[in-house]
Amino acid sequence: MNPRVVIVGAGFAGLETALSLKSLMKSAADITVIDRNDHQSFLPSIHEVISGKVRPDQIEVPLPSLLKAAKIAFLQDEVHAVETTIREVQTTREALQFDYLVLACGAVVRFFRVPGARELAYAFRTPEQADRIGKAVRTLLTSHRHPARILIAGGGLEGVEIAGELLDLVSETGQREALDSGALSIELIEAAKRLLPGCSERVQNFVEDYLGNRGVRLSRGSAITEVRKDGLSLASGETREMSILIWTGGIQPAPWIREISLAKDADGWLQVTDRLQSLDDEHIYAVGDIISFTSAEHPHPLPREAHFALDQARVAALNIYYDTKGYRKIGYHPPTKPQAISLGKAMGVLASDKLFYSGPWVVRLKKLVEKRHMLIYRARPYVSAVSAPLPGAEFRHLLKLLMPI
Ligand SMILES: Cc1cc2nc3c(=O)[nH]c(=O)nc-3n(C[C@H](O)[C@H](O)[C@H](O)COP(=O)(O)OP(=O)(O)OC[C@H]3O[C@@H](n4cnc5c(N)ncnc54)[C@H](O)[C@@H]3O)c2cc1C
Repeated sequence: MNPRVVIVGAGFAGLETALSLKSLMKSAADITVIDRNDHQSFLPSIHEVISGKVRPDQIEVPLPSLLKAAKIAFLQDEVHAVETTIREVQTTREALQFDYLVLACGAVVRFFRVPGARELAYAFRTPEQADRIGKAVRTLLTSHRHPARILIAGGGLEGVEIAGELLDLVSETGQREALDSGALSIELIEAAKRLLPGCSERVQNFVEDYLGNRGVRLSRGSAITEVRKDGLSLASGETREMSILIWTGGIQPAPWIREISLAKDADGWLQVTDRLQSLDDEHIYAVGDIISFTSAEHPHPLPREAHFALDQARVAALNIYYDTKGYRKIGYHPPTKPQAISLGKAMGVLASDKLFYSGPWVVRLKKLVEKRHMLIYRARPYVSAVSAPLPGAEFRHLLKLLMPI
């Protein structure tokens, strides 16, 4: 009997795991992908949905047709539990038995139990939420109701990219004067002392100067403690008026993940070995945002980024394949890759520990990455579901198969 592989989530990590595994195992595994949505969304571009530069459907990969072409079963449903002892995934309609499970279900917005935040702030995690934010901001800007106060909670990547898009919207709707006079304000509120915690000081300086010089107010070093209908309070005792609050304050695992009897860190993220298997069950893999990955080379948890999710997916797929063959599994060694940050259409930053570039071309580069992703994933199963060329790292590992282990 073929091994049954169930993959929960078809975001960056889940879809890549499914397609890579299909490439490796062809018809020797029964693969089922479960996702609540019938499409994958390219999350790194959803800030552009706010300004209307992209529509949600332009950054969606349709799952039913794509997985059908790849001969992978797809179930559009919500997973709410995993019973590890009986190897069963439970959805709202079905219970699926598995021999291998891959948890790739991403993260949900975290409101840090701040009173009023969940009810009154606009969450920002999906294209649909970004679309709602864009409509609310446009209505505010074109109503010419002043004072107008747009607050962004969280000065990480999402927060600064939203600020850049809002600056573009302000120019587009003729509200630059209102911003300069203070009748309209855009404010980024970050609990840490600097924007973009985790980035180099050079990136932080550049982004703070760029946004600050263009009229974005920066509030750093004080967390939001309460949100009310027309304002909020900070830990420092200060208050802010507010017309719209956009929440990018943080993420956490979904509540049902906390109920699964698998090892987790203090924040509830799944802990995995360097083979990307759960510490408690070697037939359960976890990849993407849902894991807390540390290793001797990376003592601090890896940032939750799309390129890591894709690399992890390929390693997990290879390891499942190797396991079925009785080969030795490979370790995951995250490569350092530069991060691209867009600050509206006129400026972007491309940086890593060692390099720093800035300019409008970075925004175009980011767009190219999006287009490439759309093209590859929309076309991949049609080109060849079962003989897709394996990227360099996998190819090298496959070559090792030819050698005695
Ligand atoms: C606004 C924003 C901007 C970003 N910008 C960048 C960037 O510029 N560069 C970068 O590298 N990374 C960026 N990221 C991070 C990147 O998008 C994530 O690291 C990546 O999406 C993680 O992939 P994943 O597969 O783990 O999770 P996701 O892509 O979130 O996919 C999870 C999937 O699981 C499904 N799912 C979840 N729960 C269930 C359930 N209970 N039942 C069924 N299905 C379920 C969801 O529908 C979804 O399809 C950004 C993220 C956001 C939100």
